[in-house]
Amino acid sequence: MRDEHDCDVLVVGAGPTGLCTALMLAQHGIRVRIVDRRHGPVEQSRAAIVHARTLECLDRLGVAEAAVARGLPITDVQIHSSGRPAGEMPLAGAGAADQTRFPYALALEQFETERVLADALDVPIEWGTEVVGLTDTGSGVSVETSVGVITARWLVGADGASSTIRKFLGQEFDGETYEQSGMLADVTLDVSLGVQGMRLNLTPGGFVGVLPLRSGRYRLFGVVPPELHNAPQGAVTHESYAPLDHAVLQRWFDDYFKVDARLDEVVWASMFRFHSRLAARFRVGNAFLVGDAAHIHNPAGGQGLNLGVGDAVNLAWKLAQVVRGEAPEWLLDTYEAERRPVARTVLKRTDLGFKLETGNSAVAVWMRTHVATRLVGVVSRLAFVRRMFFHMFSQLWIGYRGSRAVGRGVGQLKPGARAPYSPGVLDRTHGPGYHVLLFSVPAVRFEGPVTTHVIPPSDVAAFRAYQVDGPRLVLIRPDGHVAAVTDSVEDMTSFLDTVLVRVRVRG
Ligand SMILES: Cc1cc2nc3c(=O)[nH]c(=O)nc-3n(C[C@H](O)[C@H](O)[C@H](O)COP(=O)(O)OP(=O)(O)OC[C@H]3O[C@@H](n4cnc5c(N)ncnc54)[C@H](O)[C@@H]3O)c2cc1C
Repeated sequence: MRDEHDCDVLVVGAGPTGLCTALMLAQHGIRVRIVDRRHGPVEQSRAAIVHARTLECLDRLGVAEAAVARGLPITDVQIHSSGRPAGEMPLAGAGAADQTRFPYALALEQFETERVLADALDVPIEWGTEVVGLTDTGSGVSVETSVGVITARWLVGADGASSTIRKFLGQEFDGETYEQSGMLADVTLDVSLGVQGMRLNLTPGGFVGVLPLRSGRYRLFGVVPPELHNAPQGAVTHESYAPLDHAVLQRWFDDYFKVDARLDEVVWASMFRFHSRLAARFRVGNAFLVGDAAHIHNPAGGQGLNLGVGDAVNLAWKLAQVVRGEAPEWLLDTYEAERRPVARTVLKRTDLGFKLETGNSAVAVWMRTHVATRLVGVVSRLAFVRRMFFHMFSQLWIGYRGSRAVGRGVGQLKPGARAPYSPGVLDRTHGPGYHVLLFSVPAVRFEGPVTTHVIPPSDVAAFRAYQVDGPRLVLIRPDGHVAAVTDSVEDMTSFLDTVLVRVRVRG
């Protein structure tokens, strides 16, 4: 029976999270609409770091190459203390290239990320369409917008930190807003600082940093010292970004960055408040919250946009399978079960990092200016620390162990983990549906939204990456996570029977 709704999924918000959700749904053949109250694409550079895990997600959507072509790979972080070099954390070395196709962080302005996604989307973005009302009808949603009512089977609220959808769903946004303010600016300098590295400077007043951009501009970021602090105190919203004037910025740069350079042009600058907030639920009835609508945190480590893309990719394939009747509806509950703990962990880590980086207590200042800088000098030489550093910031650590959407495991490789990086396997496992990898198992074929791949013994790298020490069947989800690892066709079939409505196996 044909669904009577205007579309299967309505995505509210055409920021990076909404665009990713809509793009993946469209690629899975779902009737999706995407609306935004703005009248066109964002012009500010906003989030300027795209991490390795996000690039892997974009790769799945076929747009990583375009993103990399517009960005600048950042291969190391140089840490300074009051202007003096204290240590270096390489991103590209220390085994990073064994972990991912993208062994770096990509400096890419948000408008570029959004452009890459929008260019790939063959569904029109309905600009100038603001959501002003929402009713969950039980069998779907009825959404009142500034230009008329839209009905949909499912709703995805990707409408940012001040989310209207979150409010309509009655969700609190618990957490805190910090005392400190931060500044961001895209500038040109009168000298070149080199293009490979991001430079962090730890000062008694907090941290500041410089990130090179492909355009030759630099992104300046960091905390605002109290003497320059003039941020709006009363009506602080979650998006309280206030424009800044050149003189304030010049003083900040001179006093805190300790870079032997002058600011030329200030292309864009803003001061903002740091927040750390998490929605109580990511799913209510037929609606979901993704990206900043579900969680916001301070920008330490540039995780915000990246988390949103991860949400989008986690949710979109599940929605696609449920809409097509391939998967049972309970699969949708695993979006919140898998992504909320990830968001909470990121919030905790960024909170801790932020407090160490900005705390005003004598202990925090002493830790920052004496202990931390000496420690960085020593530990940054240790290979495992460098590897861990990359792993943590790149979001490669994210996994979903224990989720109902992943099965049991055999051997070292744990279900829920991100599928290990193996160039020979990676390209085959892109695209909609599950993928079963057969290692040393007689060829069988699973039917349904499952593609079967026989991994030849000559692909030694794949056997090594997947830690195969006997016959193995490894199931990869459409978001690139391991769903199950077994040594028997029967076990694999019975797991697929739980996550899919109908599966058959042919010998
Ligand atoms: C000025 C600024 C600077 C930032 N700098 C950084 C940074 O340096 N590093 C970093 O990691 N993060 C930064 N961020 C945060 C980063 O931009 C967000 O994490 C990211 O944009 C989240 O993406 P999103 O798609 O979830 O939400 P958003 O990008 O906020 O997109 C939400 C979209 O929903 C639309 N919308 C809202 N309400 C409605 C409605 N009722 N109806 C229809 N449409 C609606 C909005 O118009 C918007 O286009 C910055 C944010 C701002 C505002």
